[in-house]
Amino acid sequence: MAFSFIGFGGNLGDARQIITDAIVCLAQRTEVQIINKSCFYQSAPIDAIGGDYINSVIRIETDLDPYGLLYVCQSIEHQFGRERPYTNAPRTLDIDILFYEGFEQNQTDLTLPHPRITERSFVLLPLLEIEPNFFWPEVGQLKDFLPKVAHQRISRLTCKNCDCGQQIH
Ligand code: AMP
Repeated sequence: MAFSFIGFGGNLGDARQIITDAIVCLAQRTEVQIINKSCFYQSAPIDAIGGDYINSVIRIETDLDPYGLLYVCQSIEHQFGRERPYTNAPRTLDIDILFYEGFEQNQTDLTLPHPRITERSFVLLPLLEIEPNFFWPEVGQLKDFLPKVAHQRISRLTCKNCDCGQQIH
């Protein structure tokens, strides 16, 4: 069993519902247990075209190896009809593996930890919400990177049906 963080984003259609459904799809895999889920966040597009994005991050435990997990994530993206007409096009659903316990590599088909973790508020904020003291030996405390992304517009959305978002200060 390894733990992993996975990031979801989308800016086409009902992105909150699409991400919720995608997380349910992932939870239906016997090799994946979802441990925690952040609130939804609304963020300005960065290096991308279209409207604001909706983002969320989950923590999972999994028996899948990193490439097995990538395959599952890409199958779910495909099921939700993601098209890639051009680079950085608006997207129905984008799923990124952000971190996989004990695994590091820099290959085009799978770079882990994901290079955007420390560079994007839409990754940092939801990840730190569910893991406030996340420490990554090569980089240090993740929260130390917050000032660097402070200029990137993002807001946490209140949950529609529960008060989980209210518990965070
Ligand atoms: P994107 O269009 O931004 O979703 O990028 C998809 C491509 O990134 C796929 O070809 C993946 O194989 C590759 N990729 C590299 N590292 C990762 C990662 N950590 N998580 C998800 N996809 C990745």
